[in-house]
Amino acid sequence: MLPAVLRVALPVPLPTLFDYLPPASGGGVRPGSRVLVPFGRGKAVGVVVATDVAPAVGAGRLKRALRLLDAEPLLDVELMQTLAWAADYWLGAPGEAYANALPLALREAKPLPPLGEETWSLTIIGRSALDAGSRRGGSRTLLAELATGPLGAAELDACLPGWRAAARRLLAAGLVERGERTAGSALATRAAPPLSVEQQDAVAAVAGSLGHYQPFLLDGVTGSGKTEVYLALIERALAQGRQSLLLVPEIGLAPQTLRRLRERLGVPVEVIHSNLAEGERARAWLRARSGEAKVILGTRSAVFTPLPQAGLVIVDEEHDGAYKQQDGFRYHARDLAVVRARALGVPVLLGSGTPSLESLANVEAGRYRALHLRARPGAVHPPTVQIVDMRAQRLDHGLSPTLLHAVAETVTRGEQALVFKNRRGYAPVLYCHACGWHADCPRCERPLTLHAGRRALVCHHCDHHARIPAACPACGAAELKPQGQGTERLEEALAARFPDVPVLRIDRETTRRRDAFEHLLDGLRDEAKPAILVGTQMLAKGHDLPNLTLVAIAGVDEGLLSVDFRASERLAQQLVQVAGRAGRATKPGRVLLQTHHPDHPLLRQLLAQGYAAAAQSLLAERRQVMLPPYAHQVLLRAEAAQRTAVDTFLAAACAALPPGHGLQVAGPMPAPMPLRAGRQRGQLLLEAANRRELHAALRPWAAQLVHLPAARKVRWSLDVDPIDLY
Ligand code: ADP
Ligand code: ZN
Ligand code: ZN
Repeated sequence: MLPAVLRVALPVPLPTLFDYLPPASGGGVRPGSRVLVPFGRGKAVGVVVATDVAPAVGAGRLKRALRLLDAEPLLDVELMQTLAWAADYWLGAPGEAYANALPLALREAKPLPPLGEETWSLTIIGRSALDAGSRRGGSRTLLAELATGPLGAAELDACLPGWRAAARRLLAAGLVERGERTAGSALATRAAPPLSVEQQDAVAAVAGSLGHYQPFLLDGVTGSGKTEVYLALIERALAQGRQSLLLVPEIGLAPQTLRRLRERLGVPVEVIHSNLAEGERARAWLRARSGEAKVILGTRSAVFTPLPQAGLVIVDEEHDGAYKQQDGFRYHARDLAVVRARALGVPVLLGSGTPSLESLANVEAGRYRALHLRARPGAVHPPTVQIVDMRAQRLDHGLSPTLLHAVAETVTRGEQALVFKNRRGYAPVLYCHACGWHADCPRCERPLTLHAGRRALVCHHCDHHARIPAACPACGAAELKPQGQGTERLEEALAARFPDVPVLRIDRETTRRRDAFEHLLDGLRDEAKPAILVGTQMLAKGHDLPNLTLVAIAGVDEGLLSVDFRASERLAQQLVQVAGRAGRATKPGRVLLQTHHPDHPLLRQLLAQGYAAAAQSLLAERRQVMLPPYAHQVLLRAEAAQRTAVDTFLAAACAALPPGHGLQVAGPMPAPMPLRAGRQRGQLLLEAANRRELHAALRPWAAQLVHLPAARKVRWSLDVDPIDLY
């Protein structure tokens, strides 16, 4: 009898699995275990997908696996099934799907790290130092953070980036000590507020489904109490000894959520995100796998956390594009969360103040149950919203008198105003008034953004930097003028106009360091002092600023005029999220929206009837023209130094489509950005009304692409359910 063959997933971008003979040391190999195998000229760690593969012809020539790394499978049956599903659905390389699921430290041929978690706590002297207020800066912040009880290194990583320097100082001074968390260390808990009727209904609905699969969409604006609903449900799951997974779109949102989870639940919370040190991440993952970790908070990749005792999966801000991975294995963590919940037999709760059209369509189709939170317990009134027609006004650096007047009133009352502009830098264009020349990126053929502080022209697509020319390179005129506004210019204009009020700019430039953002905001949270914030979408999320009463949106027109069919949805979500920053506490909020298109139907409807109504109109439009979520898309992208290489590959890919496939084909055509970072780009868009037909046609095709001779001359990728087409 011929020996059974192992089928192994290796972390390579190929649409295949690899067959090996079992390691010489014998049997006991099970799916989900890692094996070390010879690969190419070296070795690789792979995951065993199947052990009972019928030896194909030529099995005699197969290489033998070197070593079994796990006696017990590292990936359980559910994860193995889900990963196989995911690789199939997103038409990805199976090996890359498995690699995404394993923390980097577990992709090496090393023994598993021990599960214990390093923790830090206050000593008695530390507590008195905190009470005496004898420390400053980072040390003081760390002492204060530890006042509620011991914290794990991963928790500290999430809420106090750079904490280790302070920890070392305090350890040397005997103010803190290092320990190890043991299962079941109890923490103090804080009582929940009495829930509103709507919150109770939402909790009851989901709690009633604990123990079986049911997706829910929890629709409630920021501040409506969604997080309280999550907390109540996680408590229920905990009471049954079950694990909960809570996904958030960005790590920036995690510290506040983490603090609330910790204060409420009285159990350690595992944090899993990409900024975590690899060892920490692997240990957190393993604690989840052992069932010891009961509450897991994480960003996109945490959707792969093992949940042997799963009780509940929650995806907060489910509409957020950050859940979609945009390179390598292009999965969508929200969609995968739903698939996992089904495999695990648990309810999944998607929460958002501005649900995606995909999720709303799923409610409409009866697949998801909708739950609503309409009141905002933290706020007295919803903010008043007013459109400012820019056409009729004299603008000062893009700011209308109405807007400036409202800012003046706000700061005079001692309150804070936020001026929102979704563009970094000083001005999006540097322009010659004499001849019409403007500075373009040579590698993208798009305008370079003027950055005054960095004294450079910067390409926001490829990060190309150029010097600011002293005179026009085309005609020699000295009059080069910045055109349009970025946050830097607005900051300058507002600082000049309000010299006595602090003006804070918050965008990716000013918050390069991870802690800088929290730090900037902390100053605004504590004191009731006037301030003007200028910022990009970074400010649209989370971050409760009780003294912020005015949100002035400096421009929305780019979003209204975009050719991307998702632009309206994104604009509506962004407007509602930013507007939600106004008046969260006891003071009423006000929102101003500057536009050259005051009669645009989307704006009108959003203002008059709110997001839900606007979303229904957008859905009706999508249905009429058969766009997602009523149709399904797969995008093949290709890029190369030479345009002909791109064209040849896409033409060959198109010709390779199965005969009679019945799909809608758009292209091959140049990408909306035909040149980027010096590379020619093209695409082929495939669409079908029926997802199953789309996949049936594309599965064999996708596996074939890698073998096309023209594929060797391009970089290409497949994107299933692309969220942008650029
Ligand atoms: P969301 O997650 O929808 O933004 P949160 O759960 O963070 O909303 O609630 C917003 C604010 O209102 C928080 O400060 C929260 O503590 C408070 N809050 C929520 N629900 C209640 C309630 N039932 N009673 C009192 N305060 C509440
Ligand atoms: Zn010129
Ligand atoms: Zn560029």
